[in-house]
Amino acid sequence: MNGAVDFTAEVAVVGGGPAGLVSAIALAASGVETLMIAPAAGDDHRTTALLAGSVTALATLGAWPACRRNAAPLSAIRIVDDSRRLLRAPEVRFAAAEIGLDAFGYNIENRHLLAALSARAAELKVPRISESALAVASDGEGVSIKLENGAARVRLAIGADGQRSLCRAAAGIGTDRRAYPQTALTLNLSHDRPHQDTSTEFHTESGPLTLVPLPGNRSSLVCVLEPASAAALASMSDVELADEIERRAHSLLGKMRVEAGRGVFPLAVETAHCFARDRIALVGEAAHVVPPIGAQGLNLGLRDAATLAELVADARRQKLDVGSPRLLARYDAQRRADVTSRRIAIDLLNRSLLTDFLPAQGVRGLALHLVERVGPLRRALMREGVAPAASRPRLMRGEMA
Ligand SMILES: Cc1cc2nc3c(=O)[nH]c(=O)nc-3n(C[C@H](O)[C@H](O)[C@H](O)COP(=O)(O)OP(=O)(O)OC[C@H]3O[C@@H](n4cnc5c(N)ncnc54)[C@H](O)[C@@H]3O)c2cc1C
Repeated sequence: MNGAVDFTAEVAVVGGGPAGLVSAIALAASGVETLMIAPAAGDDHRTTALLAGSVTALATLGAWPACRRNAAPLSAIRIVDDSRRLLRAPEVRFAAAEIGLDAFGYNIENRHLLAALSARAAELKVPRISESALAVASDGEGVSIKLENGAARVRLAIGADGQRSLCRAAAGIGTDRRAYPQTALTLNLSHDRPHQDTSTEFHTESGPLTLVPLPGNRSSLVCVLEPASAAALASMSDVELADEIERRAHSLLGKMRVEAGRGVFPLAVETAHCFARDRIALVGEAAHVVPPIGAQGLNLGLRDAATLAELVADARRQKLDVGSPRLLARYDAQRRADVTSRRIAIDLLNRSLLTDFLPAQGVRGLALHLVERVGPLRRALMREGVAPAASRPRLMRGEMA
């Protein structure tokens, strides 16, 4: 890539979704000269359940107070087997208090999360170029990024540019992708009865229907269905759809009213063959996509951001190259086990819901039965859910990167 360079920095973060913003904030807060290349975000009516480790990281970075105002605690999680299968599982309830927490995490609308993170990045004076990167090319010394109006040159580019990552393609990194025969319908709604800070998952033959608390008598819905059923629901009027969701949720939260903004997301699992190469490191959905089951996607993405920021900040303190092959290999190795174990767990759970194979239904029922009855097993699962043993970057422990 030839031409004049308009911007230079040690690190450029490409993409201003939540994984990119947290990467930029974590680096800037550790004194790393960081540039964001991030066009303004589009409309996103989804919500994100941020688990305890992510909340600790946001608090450590000074972004949590602005999020907390718009977030609802998740004090309990209930799983209800709503399938009409022969072998059904017992209802399981996980309470955060059992592992000494007030909440497993907090649910927040993505628009509030992005606004809080953008404000924190601005406070830290992270320069933001509100344009898309048009081309990315690395060489032995650094990375050149072609912009709509100019060019940037950095030592390390962080690809936080989502599922169709330009950075990933520029690094020549392929992916394994498998589409599921399922689509997630998302929307937010208000309801007559209080949710009591409890998230409820109804497990059905087509996938889970999950109601996650929002502040007040509001919840977000993620309803996983066959694509044709999702399209049918998405085309209903507000009143019809509210009645249908109330019926599927067995009137648990009383009368419902759907809010403006519906999303339809075909489900897939996708993992990059490697998470960093040639001065380009991938975070968030540029590195891995998992179905929205068990609120893992962005929580994984924030652990990517925290791990990478830690490695880069350490390299900088030691006056080492922040884009060296050694650093990138360590990043890849540190993220592999966490991403793989979550992907396998979500895939197994999802397949066990979809399967008509009786022994598999039996194993799932037995597993949930054991989880319900055996306290130490349930508590171990809950701890692993909020603070995975495979990944404890400093930010998730309340220390700066
Ligand atoms: C229905 C649903 C529910 C979910 N619920 C949860 C949940 O409860 N908890 C959870 O942890 N996760 C959840 N997830 C997953 C979560 O939404 C994603 O992991 C998260 O949004 C990914 O963030 P990201 O920053 O990696 O990518 P994105 O949010 O996709 O951001 C990528 C950004 O890069 C920008 N970009 C793209 N190309 C370029 C370019 N060339 N130059 C510059 N910028 C570029 C885009 O404009 C975009 O702003 C859910 C997902 C779905 C589908």
